[in-house]
Amino acid sequence: MSAKPAKDFDSVTVPAPNLDYDLAHVSLRRPDQRGFYEGISNAVLWPLLHGFEPTIQVGEAPWSSYVGANEEFAETAHSMSSSGDVFWIQDYHLMLVPGLLRTKRPKARIGWFCHIPWPPPDTFGILPWREEILEGLLGADVLGFHLPEYAEHFRQCVERFTAYDVTRDEIQYQSRKVRTIAAPIGIPVDELQALAIDPDVGREVERIRQMMGNRQLILGVDRLDYTKGIPERLAAFERLLRKDKSARARYALIQVMVPSRTDVKAYADLKEEIDRMVGDINGRYADTGRVPVHYLYRNLSQRALFAHYRAADVALVTPLRDGMNLVAHEYAAARTDDDGVLVLSEFAGAAKYLKGAVLVNPYDVESTTSAIHRALAMKRSEKKKRMRALRAEVMRLDVHRWADDYVKALEGT
Ligand code: UDP
Repeated sequence: MSAKPAKDFDSVTVPAPNLDYDLAHVSLRRPDQRGFYEGISNAVLWPLLHGFEPTIQVGEAPWSSYVGANEEFAETAHSMSSSGDVFWIQDYHLMLVPGLLRTKRPKARIGWFCHIPWPPPDTFGILPWREEILEGLLGADVLGFHLPEYAEHFRQCVERFTAYDVTRDEIQYQSRKVRTIAAPIGIPVDELQALAIDPDVGREVERIRQMMGNRQLILGVDRLDYTKGIPERLAAFERLLRKDKSARARYALIQVMVPSRTDVKAYADLKEEIDRMVGDINGRYADTGRVPVHYLYRNLSQRALFAHYRAADVALVTPLRDGMNLVAHEYAAARTDDDGVLVLSEFAGAAKYLKGAVLVNPYDVESTTSAIHRALAMKRSEKKKRMRALRAEVMRLDVHRWADDYVKALEGT
């Protein structure tokens, strides 16, 4: 396939007028597109790498579409590049690309980054194509993960399923060494802090608070995904309302849920479950003019989202498993006033870095309820201390620094 710049295609809009890089369009046939994206990436690799074993649908999974799509991406990258270029491949959709590119450009520096967790060998080993994936990834020079433990799991998989030698943080692959590194991603802190203090955002914060009748606000922001622990979170909030009658007049939960992967059955089922739970809680605990759960099933603009972050007394980020979770970072970036409390799942990668958060086990509904209660009742001085610690970490993990450090690691190979 010969690659054309994206702007040559009628159906693709190049995002910015002054774009200083080229985008290329990778053409996939419709069935391959579905097989690659929905069939393998969303229905097999996503649950596998998050450790959701019963959700994995290997059955008739269209592996050849995944291979074909990876070949197209590798060929496009090859035809758009020259020798001496550095390649940085992103995420689990493209795990064969490093190896495919290596055969085309044996001397190139190639990196890959995993934006989600990496599970231990017993889980990864479920995959019928485990050796092919590992071979594909070992085409890279540097493999990056959010946490040292994800990198460790990856090396354990290499030890278990291949014959290559693994040392402390390297794998001897044929004549090359492949480095595994922990490189936690962050957010563009300066840009987002500027947004947080925008006067339009401030006006929207006031509007939200007034609309909610000056109750204390608890906020959840997630893509609709079974990894995000939304039913468990609703159960914890329901428990709070059930145990403490006065809570019904004092607290409200705003749950923003972004539609996601609606063609995959597990997602449609989850949507039904959440709809039912929200209806049930509101039916039971609402009063005329006062609803406990405000459920926004859509994508908010960044401006609206940041207004919600600033309006919320407590952010509930309680995934069952999450590679990092950037909502946690964004909540702290938005709180330039050092106010607000982050309740964070210990199973989010962010929990390993964001020490100012109140950590919870989201599977334990009772202790999550207590944590929410504690966050809502926290003294101003403790909130301030925790938020300052959180914000310092979020600044340290800035995404620009992440990208610079990664490219340096790659160039140093
Ligand atoms: N987000 C958004 N609009 C919304 C809700 C979320 O733009 O209405 C963004 C949010 O700002 C964050 C991202 O979606 O940057 C979610 O990233 P995260 O790492 O938390 O989870 P993921 O969806 O990647 O699993």
